[in-house]
Amino acid sequence: MKNLHALLQQRRTEGLYRSRRTVESPQGAEIVVDGKTLLNFCSNDYLGLANHPDIKKAFIAGAEKYGTGSGAAHLICGHSTAHHALEEELAEFSGYPRALLFSTGYMANLGVAQALCGRGDRVFEDRLNHASLLDAALLSGARLQRYQHNNPDDLQHKLSEAGTGEKLVMTDAVFSMDGDIAPLPQLATICQAADAWLMMDDAHGIGVLGKHGCGSAQHFGLGSTDVPVYMATLGKALGTAGAFVAGSDDLIEYLIQSARTYVYTTAMPPALAEAARASLRIACAADDRREHLQQLIRQFRAGAQQLGLQLMDSATAIQPILAGETAAATRWSQRLLEQGILVSAIRPPTVPAGTARLRITFSANHTREQVNRLLDALNQLT
Ligand SMILES: *Cc1c(COP(=O)(O)O)cnc(C)c1O
Repeated sequence: MKNLHALLQQRRTEGLYRSRRTVESPQGAEIVVDGKTLLNFCSNDYLGLANHPDIKKAFIAGAEKYGTGSGAAHLICGHSTAHHALEEELAEFSGYPRALLFSTGYMANLGVAQALCGRGDRVFEDRLNHASLLDAALLSGARLQRYQHNNPDDLQHKLSEAGTGEKLVMTDAVFSMDGDIAPLPQLATICQAADAWLMMDDAHGIGVLGKHGCGSAQHFGLGSTDVPVYMATLGKALGTAGAFVAGSDDLIEYLIQSARTYVYTTAMPPALAEAARASLRIACAADDRREHLQQLIRQFRAGAQQLGLQLMDSATAIQPILAGETAAATRWSQRLLEQGILVSAIRPPTVPAGTARLRITFSANHTREQVNRLLDALNQLT
């Protein structure tokens, strides 16, 4: 048996020990953490919907109508009219023929890779993909090959050497720790030519990018023939929880038959599906929130550039500031916290060694003054 105590101690000395904060308030521009009110720049609540009154009302009404638990998996007796209506609305929202709900984005990713691929097949992934996509490939039993970040040529080269067997290409649409956007049109062309599935994970694009926030596929004008598998989550910009996969009728039916993380798990509470339906309606009509968010991003980037901070190539609500060494990122995050500002330090193994960073995220709930407060605090770091 390994010595867990010693291993934990080692993590501490390497500055890699992770610990949780206890939040005592709803999500918002300000949150109460361990009794202190902090300005929050690390949630993924991009549209500020996680505590929206109308979504809360829908959640409560859903609980009154359906109770708290779904009781069983979708294929047994857990699939309610609320789930079904949400799936139809998600398909329409994303511009795909059909959609299928999963309990989390992590499970959706595992389910797709395992259903489409197995031993003898290959999964190709961007080097900077989210951990759930990497785990999905490993669990599927297929051979995982990683291509250089946002490099379609490298992908094409690797696909050309792949031989027979299914080929599945998975990419973050908006990279979760970097904020940049995948070159989806080029990836789509390459995958079509190579007879490979292309799956995009739009956890950070849905609600934010595309007309009416419909996501990264719509942002690029791509549909189910270009990107046959579209996955997005409900717990970030949409402010609730859960995820869905959208695709052709056959893809969705096939997942219902064979995605193990769909078949062998309890359906999300129907009340949550009701909340997500309300959130979808609000997100669709929230062009004002999206515009305000874009203004905050522009304000921040202009301000940070003036201060000489090391921005990354991101036009989205994820705006990392590169620190390099783990210790620097941790120290910066600590100094901001002392000034009442919550920004998380992202360290290896979440990001490659030597690229530790502050991951700053913006929400439509933030004000221009709050962004200025952040810039002032960042200015005092260096
Ligand atoms: C958050 C996230 C997930 C996981 O979604 P959950 O619903 O939180 O399990 C998957 N992919 C990406 C890119 C994410 O950022």
